Amino acid sequence: MPRKLLILIADGMGDYPAQELDGRTPLQAARTPNMDAAAAQGTVGTCRTIPSGMPAGSDIANMAIMGYAPKRYHTGRGPIEAAAQGLDCAPSDLIYRLNLCTVSELSPSGLMLDHSGGHIQNEEALNLLQVLRTELDTDQVQIIPGFQYRHLLKHTDGVGTLEAGLDLVPPHDILNTPLAPALEVYARSPLLDSMIHRAHSILTSAWNQTQANAIWPWGQGPPLALPSFAHTFGLRGAVISAVDLIKGLGRAAGMDVLDVPGATGLVDTNYQGKVQAALNFLEHGDFVFVHLEGPDECGHAGDLDCKIQAIERFDEHIVGPVMLDLARMEGAVCMACDHLTPVGVRTHTTEPVPFCFLDSRQIQSGAHEGFSEAAAAAGDVHLEAGHLLLPYLLDRMQEADG
Ligand SMILES: [Zn+2]
Repeated sequence: MPRKLLILIADGMGDYPAQELDGRTPLQAARTPNMDAAAAQGTVGTCRTIPSGMPAGSDIANMAIMGYAPKRYHTGRGPIEAAAQGLDCAPSDLIYRLNLCTVSELSPSGLMLDHSGGHIQNEEALNLLQVLRTELDTDQVQIIPGFQYRHLLKHTDGVGTLEAGLDLVPPHDILNTPLAPALEVYARSPLLDSMIHRAHSILTSAWNQTQANAIWPWGQGPPLALPSFAHTFGLRGAVISAVDLIKGLGRAAGMDVLDVPGATGLVDTNYQGKVQAALNFLEHGDFVFVHLEGPDECGHAGDLDCKIQAIERFDEHIVGPVMLDLARMEGAVCMACDHLTPVGVRTHTTEPVPFCFLDSRQIQSGAHEGFSEAAAAAGDVHLEAGHLLLPYLLDRMQEADG
């Protein structure tokens, strides 16, 4: 029977040294006794989770950490979220992520004011979508309602069309900048150009009391098709996360997607529920991927204190309880982040991420002083691709089995 492995991801945890922290990173400044103990007794290293030439997206990085090469399998953000919803798609369908957003005006000099339509409430969003679907849906394109500002657009037989090759920018990447370059790209597609302009005129009518006044399709691709995790790695696996893209990756790989009540994706998420769900699953399963969104949110907000606190909570409430149970289940655990979200940059960056690995059967003593970006850079192993991490960990566990 395979032994138990947990991968614990603190989204965006890695960072740069900060002046306000006397040249330390948030991970170094945070009190993290559990990760430090794991580093002292185990292995630390780095892993290049973002392949060269690809953007530093959580979807790409987490796909790699689950063992799938993004250059081979990643088709777009839309298809991953479609997998999370369990949307029925044909291989020839093109799936876009569709945001409800706020623009100052839908013109070249207009600005993208908010990629979330003023954090639109779910019920309000669904009301808007009902009107948009009546007006805009055709045999060729259908709007698929999701949650709050995040929805999907299904383009039947869209694979191979000119739309499939368009470089559509995510709205959160162009906040407060003129829409001209993005609108030029939409203008190359009569289909999308007409859709976004008709949607804008519908949403700017007096009946719409929300701040959402535009739709924004992006992240398009054919349906996500991942080989089964169980067949590929010989493990029965599960994912635990508050965010759709992790659930979508898990579902596409045939893993269990464990729902944890109160998992919010924010700093106040239900830590205990996540750990309990992971440990319960491992009573009969082999592998759990636990994803915590908090540190990334603090990085985007540019808030150092928030990030330090999010890392401390990850260490205390996720890593700590897992470490306590590790020996009992003869398990192994790997702590990492998917990418860096430096507070000074406020977005994702592409550097290799630090990771730390402890197998309860391979305990060393005093191997490293603490877990940090610097310790990882000076560490034992440097993996040139994210999808090599899981096979590396499994090899190490087999070694320990002797
Ligand atoms: Zn991320």
